[in-house]
Amino acid sequence: MEILDLIRQRDPNEREFHQAVGEVVESIKPVLDRNPQYRSAGIMDRIIEPERVILFRVPWVDDQGEVHVNRGFRVEMNSAIGPYKGGLRFHPSVNLGILKFLAFEQVFKNALTTLPMGGGKGGSDFDPKGKSDMEVERFCQSFMIELSRHIGANTDVPAGDIGVGAREIGYLFGMYKRLRNEFTGVLTGKGLNWGGSLIRPEATGYGSVYFAAEMLDARGDSLDKKTALVSGSGNVAQFTMEKLLELGCTPVTFSDSSGYIYDQKGVDREKLDFIMQLKNVRRGRVKEYADQYPEAVYTPADPGADHNPLWNHKADCAFPSATQNEINEKDAQNLVDNGVFVVSEGANMPTTPEGIEIFIDNKILYGPGKAANAGGVSVSGLEMTQNSMRFNWTRDEVDHRLRIIMKTIHRNCMETAEQYGTPYNYMNGANIAGFVKVADAMLDQGVV
Ligand code: GLU
Repeated sequence: MEILDLIRQRDPNEREFHQAVGEVVESIKPVLDRNPQYRSAGIMDRIIEPERVILFRVPWVDDQGEVHVNRGFRVEMNSAIGPYKGGLRFHPSVNLGILKFLAFEQVFKNALTTLPMGGGKGGSDFDPKGKSDMEVERFCQSFMIELSRHIGANTDVPAGDIGVGAREIGYLFGMYKRLRNEFTGVLTGKGLNWGGSLIRPEATGYGSVYFAAEMLDARGDSLDKKTALVSGSGNVAQFTMEKLLELGCTPVTFSDSSGYIYDQKGVDREKLDFIMQLKNVRRGRVKEYADQYPEAVYTPADPGADHNPLWNHKADCAFPSATQNEINEKDAQNLVDNGVFVVSEGANMPTTPEGIEIFIDNKILYGPGKAANAGGVSVSGLEMTQNSMRFNWTRDEVDHRLRIIMKTIHRNCMETAEQYGTPYNYMNGANIAGFVKVADAMLDQGVV
């Protein structure tokens, strides 16, 4: 049976997982044809099945004394090239299908980073929005009481993702340390004075901008004096905007789940500081930006709409940095019609397959998430390295290494795309290069 039919039949409700696998299957067809050993060793059948899935109850008590139960998950997808590595997502939309898609993507992304990391992902359908610090703390502690049995610095190293930032990693680490009585690099994204790495908070956003800069450089162009549409306003979006400003490119949009801001004068350093304060300290909504800066227009989200108007403004570049499937076919067409010719994905799988087709047909410089947002997990890998050495590198040292990794990923994707007859198709390049690295390791290690 074809792989896609198999997974659709086996897990009919895991739509995002089918989507992520479908894209890779399409890209690697010529690889399987040229290399029959992958088929005979059943690589595809094995790579789509998690090595292990852990599903557990997370009971916690709110500030009113009421008991709640959420679901906790860890998908340990593939450990052929290193310990499972990937973030934890706390969001009401989390279910097994979402985490399998994220874990699957993570396997290939991590392979591209050049660092020895397998792929995993986890999280919960817990919604941190509107919860007090104490509630978040109790939830994290309960989550870790179970998760701690399954992870370890050489086994599985979680980190943050949507809804899991420095605060949550702190609470999770504290409980892990208490339960196991050991201080290890079991999580990444730790605080700077207890084992974290400089540049880790910045890494995903910076990396996505470095990737865009590389794509432009390969065409003799740069980000200087360009404008950019950014979505999201969390960690990835914030540091995407920071690096864009440094490189002379003006961000004009950003968003959260309630709506988006269009600032035709552009977000500058002072306005970005306002956003960081608003989101990270006050945990407020982006609407407040328009109250502060009258030149900005706030548009509330319309969940029933067939497109997102954020993607319908004149610009040169787009940095989707919110969540999966935030750019559909119509959005992609709007981007192209508005002159956008560079798309670098800070989020995981933010573009639907129909949207990607439009980018590729229109020869957009399209950096898929697996490659473009690999900076975050790369610096997580560098955090693990520093933890093993019991040593911390300087900001410049880590940033320099991040830049080299992003350059290497870009070159690898570009050369691989060329080698397989689809020049500048970074999606094919990323899928093929990531696949080959993992598949070869699986071949070496036998049927396990
Ligand atoms: N959640 C991030 C990602 O999607 C980072 C994972 C990590 O640092 O382990 O790659």
